[in-house]
Amino acid sequence: MAPSYNPLGQVKKGDPELYELIEREQDRQRTTLQLIASENFTSVAVMEATGSVLTNKYSEGYPKKRYYGGNVVVDEIEQLAIDRLKELFGAGFANVQPHAGANANAAAYLGLLEPGDTVLAMRLDQGGHLTHGSPVNFSGRLYNFVSYGLSENEDDLERIDLSQIASLAKQHHPKLIVVGATAYPRIIDIDPIREIADEIGAYVMFDAAHVAGLIAGGVYPNPLVGSKGRGCDLMTFTTHKTLRGPRGAAIVTNSAEIASKVDKAVFPGLQGGPLENAIAAKAVAFKEALDPSFRVYAKLVVENAKALADSLVAEGFRLVSGGTDTHLILCDLRTFDADLSGKEAQEVLDSAGITCNRNQIPFDPRSPFVTSGLRFGTPAMTTCGMGKQEMETVGSLIARALRERKDQGAIEAIRDEVAQLCSKFPPPLERRQEA
Ligand SMILES: *Cc1c(COP(=O)(O)O)cnc(C)c1O
Repeated sequence: MAPSYNPLGQVKKGDPELYELIEREQDRQRTTLQLIASENFTSVAVMEATGSVLTNKYSEGYPKKRYYGGNVVVDEIEQLAIDRLKELFGAGFANVQPHAGANANAAAYLGLLEPGDTVLAMRLDQGGHLTHGSPVNFSGRLYNFVSYGLSENEDDLERIDLSQIASLAKQHHPKLIVVGATAYPRIIDIDPIREIADEIGAYVMFDAAHVAGLIAGGVYPNPLVGSKGRGCDLMTFTTHKTLRGPRGAAIVTNSAEIASKVDKAVFPGLQGGPLENAIAAKAVAFKEALDPSFRVYAKLVVENAKALADSLVAEGFRLVSGGTDTHLILCDLRTFDADLSGKEAQEVLDSAGITCNRNQIPFDPRSPFVTSGLRFGTPAMTTCGMGKQEMETVGSLIARALRERKDQGAIEAIRDEVAQLCSKFPPPLERRQEA
């Protein structure tokens, strides 16, 4: 490999202990398969902006309405991020300051609700997120969450149960209905939920943490619009999952009234100074997502997920809802091997160089710590350039590792095969160092 610019040169010189740890992590990222559905590899440009001098600046407030001086340039940077984001989702208003997806959701709740208000959201054990009312999360402690789940009927098995949402909405009169999930492989149609919400006068929030990049890339309908021209009232999302930006989040809406509530909730409601280095990196990511090449990427992510899904089905796994429309696959291990738990499977795959996470499946007989499922996603490996053929290989490597899990030699051989495969599809940083 040709010597090149090392963005960690000063860390190497001044803090070899930390440098060595970062090197080890980089090594892990490039020699093992990254199949965690919420992860991705950002571009080098995103990493450069994240590591820029903007980390030195305090900018409490919003563009042209700051509390400290010296924000002339920062104002332009944050405005650039806002304008690009509005264009990306066809939104009237955008807030790019939330530090993470959980903060964005907290801001949405703080802006729209009073403590104790009722909210309808997806069950956590069927795909919802911690911030959708978990009793150990601020959401479940401050607000009265009621949960809807997936259908058990043959004809729409493991799809979101709309009739359940409708009847819970009539029964509980929530002020807000939260849509969106962390482990749901299918496209969610916003139209029927909008109708249910309108009947009871509730807000609709779409949590697009996972699918924001798919929406931006045109392979998932924009929930802000809906097919009838009016979708959710606001959409929160992370910038680091399918959207392939820096760690962080944002909120968009078409309502001036909601935008004003959200802005006040983010600052001064929840956060102090924004991370302008992260906001600059968000601006980079939004520009990348506006480029036509991102549509190609998003399409490949979904095609790869379908290819991996087919491969897993051929190996004897059952997929929750029977397949995927997105970047994500939820795999039920019980048809493959009734004795194999999600916890054991995750550990076996980890030792074979295949990184994924265990996940509860709907109506899981095992506990959330053990589980009967695995969640896989294709955003990261698609960024590295893998395609359909590699996905078929990955599916068979997963099955082989799990079948031969008691044989240490077999696991090591798979780990070597994985490393060899990964060496042909390096992450963006590696590609640049080789250039
Ligand atoms: C990932 C995720 C979040 C939280 O994002 P963080 O950046 O980890 O705080 C919120 N909602 C959903 C649905 C998610 O998948």
